Amino acid sequence: MSKDNALLAALQVLVVDDDAIARRLATGILRSIAVGGYAEAVDGTSALTRLERAAPPIDVVIVDLEMEGMDGVEFLAELARSTPSVAVILASAMHRSVMAAVEEMAKNTGLRVLGALEKPLDRARVKGVLEALIANPERQVRPEREETFTDAEIHQAMQRNEFELFYQPKVDLRDGRLIGAEALVRWRHPERGIVPPMSFIPAAEKNGLINELTWTLFESGLRSAAQWSNAGLDIALSVNVTVGFLEELAVTENILALTHSHKVVPDRITLELTESMAATDVIPVVGNLARLRMRGFGLAIDDFGTGYSSMQQLSRIPFNELKVDRSFIEGAARQPEVRAILESSVELGRRLRLQTTAEGIETLDELAMLRGMGCDTAQGFLFARPMEIGAFRVWADDWNRGGHFPLQQAGPGGVATLS
Ligand code: C2E
Ligand code: MG
Ligand code: MG
Repeated sequence: MSKDNALLAALQVLVVDDDAIARRLATGILRSIAVGGYAEAVDGTSALTRLERAAPPIDVVIVDLEMEGMDGVEFLAELARSTPSVAVILASAMHRSVMAAVEEMAKNTGLRVLGALEKPLDRARVKGVLEALIANPERQVRPEREETFTDAEIHQAMQRNEFELFYQPKVDLRDGRLIGAEALVRWRHPERGIVPPMSFIPAAEKNGLINELTWTLFESGLRSAAQWSNAGLDIALSVNVTVGFLEELAVTENILALTHSHKVVPDRITLELTESMAATDVIPVVGNLARLRMRGFGLAIDDFGTGYSSMQQLSRIPFNELKVDRSFIEGAARQPEVRAILESSVELGRRLRLQTTAEGIETLDELAMLRGMGCDTAQGFLFARPMEIGAFRVWADDWNRGGHFPLQQAGPGGVATLS
């Protein structure tokens, strides 16, 4: 017996379906691919009881989404609470978009979803997902709970200057020119190494330290922008700000003064505000955004597609750039619905005469897709990850010297040099 067959022969699978014929079909498939053991449950409630008591424990549950009584969605929620270690295969005759929504939900509860299969089940597909499980048996752990830091720790880090900007290049999708950089904060933590923003920005927002941090970072970004300009590197800089920062009464004057003092031209600086924050009614914020725009600063709506802004809110704030969230780019290849949203977002940006930016291109296929859609600019790991300032300069000089991989689609060697 091959190693894979031996592993299949050790698997315990439970089929949960209220339809007898569907159960019979599923167990027939499981028998034919020689899994170690399989059982049937006619509804969610009996399945949960069975899962708790099963010895040997059940490894995989194949669950029908449309069941009488406790439906598949409810069952998955219960499962995540009672037996989160079990892996799941969804089975349904519903539309792909419904399946995708349930899959997403199940993953968010921490369940490992092996696949979403159309009913009637297909032997090759079932075998395929079970083999994938065997090939990668490690339970997919949920992204670790965000590290939490105390207010005192964040405060101390600010005084010790442990927050630092990294820079991610932004390129023009038409010709591959390097046109800018986004400044992304990192905490260079003495013990924990480089800590990403999501581990401390929310805390800094809550404890009120965010504005002070934003000012410090803004100034540091301006120093970089001035350096680049002096070195003949003509690129724009984007910085991320929060809504609280824009509530400060004199924020426009202060930003302008700081920008001038570093001899940077406002139109080289763009402030990015996430879509959820842009959905603001706070009058001083809207006022400051308008004034900043009048002074020449760029305004970008970040993570577009993930927030709840209405078209009206979008038209009220004078944005000049729309950054489409990475989740749409990633999903577009797999789901036509997501692709439609991506396409419409780029089209909306064009109609509103906004520069459209793809946030996070990772593959050549994604690059080709976005160029095809007429998206203007992009950032992404395909070009480069956010880098500390020194590394950014080296990268930028390299890029400007060496042509525009991968936009010019050289051989595979050229692409490989990017990583
Ligand atoms: P964001 O402004 O939307 O930044 C883009 C995020 O996408 C960055 O994550 C970047 O590293 C990541 N990214 C870029 N290209 C790719 C790609 O190809 N694939 C993938 N998977 N990811 C990619 P990062 O640096 O962890 O920042 C997360 C968020 O934290 C930012 O999202 C922004 O909202 C916030 N943030 C970062 N720096 C600052 C800051 O200085 N101030 C404030 N208020 N927020 C910040
Ligand atoms: Mg951003
Ligand atoms: Mg974003």
